[in-house]
Amino acid sequence: MVKHLIGESPYRRIFNAMIPSFSWRRAVPRTAVDRFSVLVSTCEILVEGLELSIVLPRVYAESALSYWFCAILGLFLFVNLFGNFIMAMGVENSSRSVVLPAVLKPGWSYCHSCQTNSPPRAFHCSECGKCVLKRDHHCIFMGCCIGHANQRYYLMCIMYIGLLTVYASYISADLAVQCIGENLNLTTLIASFTPVLAWMYGLVQPLSFFIAFQSGTCLYCFFIFTALFLYHALIVLRGQTTHEFRRLGDRSYDQGWLRNIRGVLGTRWYFVWVFPLVTSPLPGDGVHFVESGSPSLEEVKDL
Ligand SMILES: [Zn+2]
Ligand SMILES: [Zn+2]
Repeated sequence: MVKHLIGESPYRRIFNAMIPSFSWRRAVPRTAVDRFSVLVSTCEILVEGLELSIVLPRVYAESALSYWFCAILGLFLFVNLFGNFIMAMGVENSSRSVVLPAVLKPGWSYCHSCQTNSPPRAFHCSECGKCVLKRDHHCIFMGCCIGHANQRYYLMCIMYIGLLTVYASYISADLAVQCIGENLNLTTLIASFTPVLAWMYGLVQPLSFFIAFQSGTCLYCFFIFTALFLYHALIVLRGQTTHEFRRLGDRSYDQGWLRNIRGVLGTRWYFVWVFPLVTSPLPGDGVHFVESGSPSLEEVKDL
């Protein structure tokens, strides 16, 4: 054990201290469908970064203060988006991370696939092949389940997708119109709404197509992910999982909006937007939950 610790790189030790349950191997999805969807999501995020790096120097002079301000803002949004995306996939969120009792307690269930007892709010996911603690849903964009340990990263990721896409749309809007054509005519309209068609028929150049296509994609993504973020934010505020929200609005674990937020984003919930590696310990363990009207886990520990 000592030898193992000595052999670890300083980077690895710092990283493990901040996020003890992260693993790159775990970040690789289990099924081919999930791997493909993660590949598409990763490519789209990287292309988004590429678009900003192409568009920014064309919109602002590189020496201008506005250029550096926009570049740093874009980098901040991109790092938070991509960082939370990776973290959500690599953090251990299954029941394998905890010691489970051999006796079936009230409210618990037995998972025949895992051949182990499963705590309340945990569900087995056939795609992930494991029981996920406080399972919310299986995310097709990340190819993994969202649950107790990684819901913070998921929420931050979809929030930053909304912010980055609206930012990229704003930055590249003028250039997209310029590239396609300044005059409003049939060609401009076709190119604006169907850039793939316009490119195929030679109405726009490859760079114009790329910028127009990305601008259109950003706009669609902005509406989709903003709606998704608002939906999940509402569920978190109500102290529910997606499953409980659908099940006739079950609010058995509602502890009030502030405790509900702390239960998902951690005790330093007001800092988690700054950077994915900001530590924010979760008050619960994903196994034991306090029902509505009972003292919180932190209050029980203090007694
Ligand atoms: Zn299971
Ligand atoms: Zn899953």
